[in-house]
Amino acid sequence: MIYDCAVIGTGSAGVSAALNLKIRGKNFIWIGSKSLSGKIAKAEQIGNYPGFPDASGEDLARAFSAHIEAAGIEITEAMVNAVYDMGTHYALNAGADFYEAKTVILATGVAPKNTLPGEAERVGRGVSYCATCDGALYKGKTVAAILSNPRFEHEAAFLASLASKVWFLPSYRDPGPVGDNAEVVSARPVKIEGDAKPYTLTLSDGSQISADGIFILRDSISMGTLLPALALDDGHIAVDRRMATNLPGIYAAGDCTGRPYQYAKAVGEGNVAAHSVLDYLAETAEK
Ligand SMILES: Cc1cc2nc3c(=O)[nH]c(=O)nc-3n(C[C@H](O)[C@H](O)[C@H](O)COP(=O)(O)OP(=O)(O)OC[C@H]3O[C@@H](n4cnc5c(N)ncnc54)[C@H](O)[C@@H]3O)c2cc1C
Repeated sequence: MIYDCAVIGTGSAGVSAALNLKIRGKNFIWIGSKSLSGKIAKAEQIGNYPGFPDASGEDLARAFSAHIEAAGIEITEAMVNAVYDMGTHYALNAGADFYEAKTVILATGVAPKNTLPGEAERVGRGVSYCATCDGALYKGKTVAAILSNPRFEHEAAFLASLASKVWFLPSYRDPGPVGDNAEVVSARPVKIEGDAKPYTLTLSDGSQISADGIFILRDSISMGTLLPALALDDGHIAVDRRMATNLPGIYAAGDCTGRPYQYAKAVGEGNVAAHSVLDYLAETAEK
């Protein structure tokens, strides 16, 4: 099935885009996290979101979740690793699954600017962003799992079920158990070195660990990795007033398009992007 649209990201921008597509009866897939976005919930008190003068980020997240549920919108829990141009539409790779859509709304939040030195050039040669896709390559081997969020612990546990040893590097407090062969490392990863596997991962305390596979599971993926042909402007996705990118049928909304990083801007841009998708679908259907 080819969806009318794929919305990537479940923060404020993605919520707004998904609600508008739903109201207009479009057949879309929404990929992200059922717990929405860590960023929505982080604000202690918001103050500048119209209609919610005393709300905290958690209050807003609860209100968004209730609205999504009332609208009957499903979220597909996954990280999109890559978007491919198929000529007439786009294909999205998320874990072991592929989805196809005529249009895409990127609502992925601020993309990580600082990948680790040595990371980009080893993607596909030992560095991976997806345990489900590449974990089987490391059966009986040693891997490092670098996690930015406990929601990826099931992926680290999957790695532990295959590998002989997992160096587990969570960048948050109180990590959960991922397996008896997993050793928690509290120092931060600093750089990846080595001409061939096993690679050397240098840590913030100066120590080094060695791993055949290095799995980096972050809340977002750099735009260069996700969709290399996308035009950027100072690290953000370049868009026009319709939230259109340089690629036909691809729109972007929210923090990923630039400052100010604000809920109301993200919600507004998600709304515009959804309406631009409706226009694009109508125009391309006429041809
Ligand atoms: C502590 C704090 C306080 C704040 N206070 C305020 C405030 O008072 N007022 C205000 O207006 N704003 C505030 N903000 C900013 C506000 O939270 C953000 O501007 C807003 O959440 C941006 O929404 P977004 O949808 O663009 O991105 P995000 O909320 O970052 O959501 C992006 C989502 O996309 C997902 N994603 C990314 N890549 C992928 C992928 N490849 N596949 C699938 N999913 C993906 C992420 O996991 C995330 O769920 C605050 C932010 C913080 C951190």
